[in-house]
Amino acid sequence: MFDKTKPPRVFSAKAPSEEFNTAVEMFFCHGSSRGYCDACGREYINIDGGGWDFEDNEVEEFRENMVKHPEWYIETDYTISVADNIMGRETVVGCKCNWLRKFEDVAWRYRSLVFNYVERRVKDELRKATQNQEAVDSAREFMEK
Ligand SMILES: [Zn+2]
Repeated sequence: MFDKTKPPRVFSAKAPSEEFNTAVEMFFCHGSSRGYCDACGREYINIDGGGWDFEDNEVEEFRENMVKHPEWYIETDYTISVADNIMGRETVVGCKCNWLRKFEDVAWRYRSLVFNYVERRVKDELRKATQNQEAVDSAREFMEK
């Protein structure tokens, strides 16, 4: 899928902000010894950090790939935060491609729209819940007569 004879893609010169990375880690991620960025194709491994179980030859194969394609295969000294599905893609927080920056820019650009939508949606859900509660109260009142 990715031509590893060429340099991997970079989507933004700017990395995502620390605040955005933290938010993504809180809501979309799990920690792992391996991470794959579906946006750019880079692969990450944390060999010594977490007492991880690797398949036979997994580490050796990764190290061979690191020698052959150092821009594509990257070893970390920290647990890798893998976001399973952001806009349809698995990605790694902190990936050198900065694909998450594009997501952050969209989220920030449309924040007023999102806040407005959330406010309207919450009010609508509250209205429906109130109607349901009134129906329950009415039924209870009828049963108690
Ligand atoms: Zn990437």
